[in-house]
Amino acid sequence: MQQNLPYRSTVYRYFGSWNNFLKEANLSPARKHFKGYKKDLTGKTYGRLTVLYPTNKKSGDNLYWHCKCSCGKETDVLRNNLVQGTTRSCGCLNQEQYIRNFRETWEERRKTGTSMINQREQLSKNNRTGVKGVSPYYSKGVFLGYRAYITYKRKQYYGGIFPTIKETAAARKKLENKYFNTESKDD
Ligand SMILES: [Zn+2]
Repeated sequence: MQQNLPYRSTVYRYFGSWNNFLKEANLSPARKHFKGYKKDLTGKTYGRLTVLYPTNKKSGDNLYWHCKCSCGKETDVLRNNLVQGTTRSCGCLNQEQYIRNFRETWEERRKTGTSMINQREQLSKNNRTGVKGVSPYYSKGVFLGYRAYITYKRKQYYGGIFPTIKETAAARKKLENKYFNTESKDD
Protein backbone atom coordinates (compact mmCIF):
# COMPACT_ATOMS: atom_id res chain seq x y z
CA MET A 1 0.00 0.00 0.00
CA GLN A 2 2.87 2.27 0.90
CA GLN A 3 4.00 2.79 -2.70
CA ASN A 4 0.53 4.04 -3.68
CA LEU A 5 0.79 7.09 -1.47
CA PRO A 6 1.80 10.20 -3.35
CA TYR A 7 5.17 11.66 -2.42
CA ARG A 8 5.41 15.39 -2.47
CA SER A 9 8.66 15.41 -4.45
CA THR A 10 7.27 13.00 -7.06
CA VAL A 11 4.03 14.96 -7.29
CA TYR A 12 5.91 18.20 -7.83
CA ARG A 13 8.15 16.62 -10.42
CA TYR A 14 5.26 15.17 -12.41
CA PHE A 15 2.55 17.77 -11.88
CA GLY A 16 4.28 20.99 -10.87
CA SER A 17 2.06 21.53 -7.88
CA TRP A 18 0.01 19.65 -5.35
CA ASN A 19 -3.22 21.18 -6.67
CA ASN A 20 -2.45 20.12 -10.23
CA PHE A 21 -1.94 16.60 -9.03
CA LEU A 22 -5.23 16.58 -7.13
CA LYS A 23 -6.96 17.96 -10.18
CA GLU A 24 -5.40 15.45 -12.57
CA ALA A 25 -6.02 12.55 -10.21
CA ASN A 26 -9.57 13.76 -9.62
CA LEU A 27 -9.01 13.60 -5.89
CA SER A 28 -10.48 15.63 -3.10
CA PRO A 29 -7.78 17.98 -1.87
CA ALA A 30 -6.23 17.60 1.54
CA ARG A 31 -8.06 19.22 4.42
CA LYS A 32 -5.67 22.12 4.77
CA HIS A 33 -6.57 23.32 1.30
CA PHE A 34 -10.00 24.26 2.42
CA LYS A 35 -9.60 24.59 6.13
CA GLY A 36 -12.21 26.95 7.44
CA TYR A 37 -14.53 26.32 4.53
CA LYS A 38 -16.18 23.37 6.20
CA LYS A 39 -17.57 20.67 3.98
CA ASP A 40 -16.05 19.32 0.82
CA LEU A 41 -18.50 19.97 -1.99
CA THR A 42 -16.72 17.78 -4.54
CA GLY A 43 -19.17 15.61 -6.44
CA LYS A 44 -22.25 17.40 -5.18
CA THR A 45 -24.79 18.83 -7.58
CA TYR A 46 -26.59 22.12 -7.31
CA GLY A 47 -29.16 22.60 -10.01
CA ARG A 48 -27.26 22.00 -13.24
CA LEU A 49 -23.85 22.32 -11.61
CA THR A 50 -21.67 19.46 -10.48
CA VAL A 51 -18.78 20.46 -8.24
CA LEU A 52 -15.44 19.22 -9.56
CA TYR A 53 -12.84 20.67 -7.20
CA PRO A 54 -12.05 23.67 -5.00
CA THR A 55 -10.02 26.50 -6.49
CA ASN A 56 -7.52 28.76 -4.74
CA LYS A 57 -9.76 31.78 -5.23
CA LYS A 58 -11.58 33.13 -2.23
CA SER A 59 -13.94 35.89 -1.35
CA GLY A 60 -13.70 36.57 2.34
CA ASP A 61 -14.48 33.29 4.06
CA ASN A 62 -15.86 31.89 0.87
CA LEU A 63 -14.09 29.55 -1.49
CA TYR A 64 -14.72 29.35 -5.21
CA TRP A 65 -15.42 25.82 -6.40
CA HIS A 66 -14.85 24.70 -9.94
CA CYS A 67 -18.08 23.32 -11.36
CA LYS A 68 -19.27 21.73 -14.54
CA CYS A 69 -22.67 22.69 -15.88
CA SER A 70 -24.92 20.12 -17.55
CA CYS A 71 -24.67 22.20 -20.73
CA GLY A 72 -20.93 21.46 -20.82
CA LYS A 73 -19.50 24.78 -19.68
CA GLU A 74 -17.24 25.00 -16.64
CA THR A 75 -17.31 27.81 -14.15
CA ASP A 76 -16.08 28.84 -10.69
CA VAL A 77 -18.83 29.47 -8.17
CA LEU A 78 -18.68 30.74 -4.60
CA ARG A 79 -19.53 28.15 -1.99
CA ASN A 80 -22.33 30.25 -0.52
CA ASN A 81 -23.95 30.75 -3.88
CA LEU A 82 -23.99 27.00 -4.43
CA VAL A 83 -25.21 26.03 -1.01
CA GLN A 84 -27.82 28.75 -0.81
CA GLY A 85 -29.09 27.99 -4.30
CA THR A 86 -28.27 31.42 -5.72
CA THR A 87 -26.25 29.96 -8.58
CA ARG A 88 -27.68 26.87 -10.25
CA SER A 89 -26.06 26.93 -13.65
CA CYS A 90 -23.20 28.47 -15.63
CA GLY A 91 -25.66 31.15 -16.69
CA CYS A 92 -27.51 29.12 -19.30
CA LEU A 93 -30.48 28.76 -16.98
CA ASN A 94 -30.77 32.54 -16.71
CA GLN A 95 -30.55 32.89 -20.47
CA GLU A 96 -33.32 30.36 -20.99
CA GLN A 97 -35.45 32.03 -18.36
CA TYR A 98 -34.85 35.40 -19.96
CA ILE A 99 -35.96 34.13 -23.35
CA ARG A 100 -39.05 32.49 -21.81
CA ASN A 101 -39.97 35.72 -20.03
CA PHE A 102 -39.32 37.73 -23.15
CA ARG A 103 -41.59 35.51 -25.20
CA GLU A 104 -44.36 35.60 -22.63
CA THR A 105 -44.20 39.36 -22.35
CA TRP A 106 -43.99 39.68 -26.10
CA GLU A 107 -47.10 37.56 -26.66
CA GLU A 108 -48.93 39.41 -23.93
CA ARG A 109 -48.05 42.84 -25.25
CA ARG A 110 -48.77 41.85 -28.77
CA LYS A 111 -52.32 41.02 -27.68
CA THR A 112 -52.80 44.19 -25.68
CA GLY A 113 -50.95 46.38 -28.18
CA THR A 114 -48.44 47.68 -25.63
CA SER A 115 -44.98 48.69 -26.69
CA MET A 116 -42.50 45.87 -26.35
CA ILE A 117 -38.98 47.14 -26.24
CA ASN A 118 -38.50 50.81 -25.52
CA GLN A 119 -39.05 54.30 -26.77
CA ARG A 120 -35.94 54.30 -28.89
CA GLU A 121 -37.16 51.21 -30.66
CA GLN A 122 -40.36 53.04 -31.51
CA LEU A 123 -38.46 55.99 -32.90
CA SER A 124 -36.70 53.74 -35.37
CA LYS A 125 -39.97 53.52 -37.28
CA ASN A 126 -38.51 54.95 -40.45
CA ASN A 127 -35.29 52.95 -40.25
CA ARG A 128 -34.89 49.88 -42.28
CA THR A 129 -33.83 46.69 -40.55
CA GLY A 130 -31.13 46.07 -43.10
CA VAL A 131 -32.68 42.71 -43.91
CA LYS A 132 -34.61 42.22 -47.11
CA GLY A 133 -38.29 41.52 -46.57
CA VAL A 134 -38.12 42.38 -42.89
CA SER A 135 -39.61 45.58 -41.57
CA PRO A 136 -40.55 46.89 -38.14
CA TYR A 137 -44.24 46.42 -37.56
CA TYR A 138 -46.35 49.04 -35.88
CA SER A 139 -49.96 49.10 -34.92
CA LYS A 140 -51.41 52.48 -33.97
CA GLY A 141 -47.87 53.77 -33.64
CA VAL A 142 -46.85 50.98 -31.28
CA PHE A 143 -43.92 48.77 -32.14
CA LEU A 144 -45.02 45.15 -32.02
CA GLY A 145 -42.12 43.36 -33.63
CA TYR A 146 -40.94 42.66 -37.16
CA ARG A 147 -42.97 41.58 -40.12
CA ALA A 148 -41.88 39.34 -42.94
CA TYR A 149 -43.10 40.35 -46.37
CA ILE A 150 -42.53 39.66 -50.00
CA THR A 151 -43.53 41.45 -53.18
CA TYR A 152 -44.68 39.09 -55.84
CA LYS A 153 -46.26 40.26 -59.08
CA ARG A 154 -46.71 43.74 -57.66
CA LYS A 155 -48.62 42.41 -54.70
CA GLN A 156 -47.39 42.26 -51.15
CA TYR A 157 -47.67 39.08 -49.10
CA TYR A 158 -46.97 38.74 -45.39
CA GLY A 159 -45.34 35.93 -43.45
CA GLY A 160 -46.09 36.83 -39.87
CA ILE A 161 -44.83 39.06 -37.07
CA PHE A 162 -41.96 38.02 -34.83
CA PRO A 163 -40.07 39.51 -31.89
CA THR A 164 -36.64 39.26 -33.52
CA ILE A 165 -35.20 40.11 -36.91
CA LYS A 166 -33.66 36.64 -37.08
CA GLU A 167 -36.99 34.88 -36.79
CA THR A 168 -38.57 37.27 -39.24
CA ALA A 169 -35.78 36.64 -41.73
CA ALA A 170 -36.51 32.91 -41.47
CA ALA A 171 -40.18 33.60 -42.21
CA ARG A 172 -39.15 35.69 -45.19
CA LYS A 173 -37.11 32.72 -46.47
CA LYS A 174 -40.27 30.62 -46.37
CA LEU A 175 -42.07 33.25 -48.41
CA GLU A 176 -39.24 33.18 -50.93
CA ASN A 177 -39.55 29.42 -51.25
CA LYS A 178 -43.27 29.73 -51.67
CA TYR A 179 -43.38 32.52 -54.22
CA PHE A 180 -40.01 32.41 -55.90
CA ASN A 181 -39.82 28.69 -56.23
CA THR A 182 -40.37 28.58 -59.97
CA GLU A 183 -39.56 32.13 -61.02
CA SER A 184 -37.22 34.54 -59.37
CA LYS A 185 -36.99 38.36 -59.62
CA ASP A 186 -39.24 40.95 -58.08
CA ASP A 187 -38.93 42.73 -54.74
ZN1 LIG B 1 -24.81 25.82 -18.49
